[in-house]
Amino acid sequence: MKNTNICTPKTSINSDERLKLLISDADALKIKRGVKWKATVTDLVTGIDYPLQGCACSMATCFCDAVVVNKKLLKFIKKLGEAVA
Ligand SMILES: [Zn+2]
Repeated sequence: MKNTNICTPKTSINSDERLKLLISDADALKIKRGVKWKATVTDLVTGIDYPLQGCACSMATCFCDAVVVNKKLLKFIKKLGEAVA
């Protein structure tokens, strides 16, 4: 596949757990550095939309890291994962 990017948002600010999403270039551009941001990206593998919010990486003011902000969605994804496991 061309023009795709791996995005690995955390499932919560204080968690090390991460999702692995495959997103388009257009969605990847929504992820900013140095400013707070919010965006919805679509996982190209599952077609599921993930609302994300920027969070600090190792640099407190960078915000290039992302966290999923929809708890209901995370519960749904977890169930989905258990169903295929
Ligand atoms: Zn960063």
